[in-house]
Amino acid sequence: MTTSPNPTTGVGVPTSAPKTEGPRITLEHEEHAGRERAPMDVIVRTEDLDVYYGDFWAVRKVTMDVARNQITALIGPSGCGKSTVLRCFNRMNDLIPTARVEGHVTYHGQDLYAKNVDPVEVRRQVGMVFQRPNPFPKTIFENVAYGPKVSGVKYSKNDLDDLVVDALKGAALWEEVKAEYKTKSGLALSGGQQQRLCIARAIATEPEIILMDEPCSALDPIATALIEDLMQDLVQKYTVIIVTHNMQQAARVSDRTAFFTANLDDRGQRFGELVEYDYTSKLFSNPDDSRTEDYISGRFG
Ligand code: ADP
Repeated sequence: MTTSPNPTTGVGVPTSAPKTEGPRITLEHEEHAGRERAPMDVIVRTEDLDVYYGDFWAVRKVTMDVARNQITALIGPSGCGKSTVLRCFNRMNDLIPTARVEGHVTYHGQDLYAKNVDPVEVRRQVGMVFQRPNPFPKTIFENVAYGPKVSGVKYSKNDLDDLVVDALKGAALWEEVKAEYKTKSGLALSGGQQQRLCIARAIATEPEIILMDEPCSALDPIATALIEDLMQDLVQKYTVIIVTHNMQQAARVSDRTAFFTANLDDRGQRFGELVEYDYTSKLFSNPDDSRTEDYISGRFG
């Protein structure tokens, strides 16, 4: 059964320390949550969201609000629909011919799927970083300048250079590449640097939201830690929604966590659903649903 998100009501503010270990599960998060007893500042909302791939009803009746300038993690076992839901937030599912989205996704209260909404503009405002870093075979500069160049806005050479440098700084890559960012290929960077380059490319178009689909799954622990630190900087300016199969990562980095699982319907068809959505510290320490408890304690999935 899909549950209503507690964060909208402020109910469930954590009272005890979370069980999960991780350097950033601290009072800081709980205080953060405590400040949020007031109504949540919702930037994007889904209501009864259904996604089909052809006849396959993959994700059912997902209702959740995403808070501005926070990190929201989507967790759950493989195949429960996390990436599918993530792609609804910037209409990336439009690019999958068999995919069909029903229900509502609203961004600043506007229907993201309305006929007059340009999906390209949506993807500028809601950027995305993928599991495998995917720089273009071009210089670091060209990788970051690409979005602004195709946006239709005319930038002077200096303005474009400033924008690229700011984006590289914003993605914590500048210090490592400043000597050769105009000549070195993005493909010549390490995996972790390439992922930060992709983040720089996403923020160069000045989005409001950054979607991250398992951004660290191809990275080593040091590169992962750098990206996790970077997320804490990014969230000062952007809203971050991250899919991760790594529960510790969700617990370390996010303010709120949505736990999805796969279920079987009356006809034996598998589908993904949102089980529980709450403050991360609450969900990991005192979940409401036994399926969440089983998952976070490693008894399932
Ligand atoms: P998760 O991100 O939780 O691993 P996904 O969103 O990738 O889950 O997948 C949810 C379900 O939708 C799975 O059953 C998966 O096989 C199916 N699915 C995902 N992408 C496609 C696609 N392009 N075409 C058909 N089925 C898909």
